[in-house]
Amino acid sequence: MKIAVLSTNKNLYSTRRLVEAGLERGHQMPVINHKRCYMNIASSKPEIHIDGKAIEGVDAIIPRIGASVSFYGTAVVRQFEVMGVYSVNESVAITRSRDKLRASQLLARKGLGLPVTGFANAPGDTDDLLKIVGGAPVVIKLLEGTQGVGVVLAETDKAAESVIEAFRGLKANFMVQEFIKEAGGADIRCFVVGDKVVASMMRKGKEGEFRSNLHRGGSAKLVKITPEERKTAVRSAQVMGLNVAGVDLLRSARGPVVMEVNSSPGLEGIENATQKDVAGMIIEFIEKNAREGRTRTRGKG
Ligand code: ADP
Repeated sequence: MKIAVLSTNKNLYSTRRLVEAGLERGHQMPVINHKRCYMNIASSKPEIHIDGKAIEGVDAIIPRIGASVSFYGTAVVRQFEVMGVYSVNESVAITRSRDKLRASQLLARKGLGLPVTGFANAPGDTDDLLKIVGGAPVVIKLLEGTQGVGVVLAETDKAAESVIEAFRGLKANFMVQEFIKEAGGADIRCFVVGDKVVASMMRKGKEGEFRSNLHRGGSAKLVKITPEERKTAVRSAQVMGLNVAGVDLLRSARGPVVMEVNSSPGLEGIENATQKDVAGMIIEFIEKNAREGRTRTRGKG
């Protein structure tokens, strides 16, 4: 098959590993920089061009769309779908999971465990917003943040009010969440492919840090997850409509709560922590599920 990896940088670990895993299995593995793609969306014969040439003969794509190019990246994925190319994660699913608020609302509707979360644009009543989530300590998050930037722990109601005022002043969308203290600054990344958690790791922030992001100096180790955690991760990916997802869970006193569902989960941390060929499993999933000239949504939605 010809499986294109949509990535802005072919030297990234995840991109390299997907290419390597595909080549090992006898596929053609071009890397396409979605930022450089352009397309005539009104044409009766949908096409995508790059560097003066039409992209042809692609059977499947693996979108690796960074948060900063979600809008254009998902448009390129959608165009591939319109052309009938199979995308391992569909454009609508990527968009759904990228919006933290939308994702939380959808997960809550399906009964998945979430931290108690309040959302506000311009709260007239900060006291009440804090009350909704049970008062300090709370975690306040910018909706647009990634890799732990814009995630603040406020230990007192006073501190929370100041942060909320600051975010309001910046006209930023944010959410206020109960602080899951018992998670101990650690979270669990479950890597889902299809309807299985194929690898999982526990990430822990460095000393004194409640955020476990590896980009913030956290470390990862192997972890055995419970059947409930497994079920929560698989279900979360399904609710988002993602075939490949990194589902982040916190171990709370009332069971697993979902932090985030990531549509382009990194491979480096998880492959190093687990020594598993996760890239290979993604390629195998595509081999089983991609059908030439057929995709589920064909760019709908
Ligand atoms: P980002 O998407 O920017 O990584 P997250 O919402 O995943 O932001 O938060 C970053 C990290 O902060 C999480 O991985 C987790 O370790 C910690 N964290 C976030 N929210 C909470 C919370 N409500 N309770 C406890 N820890 C939290």
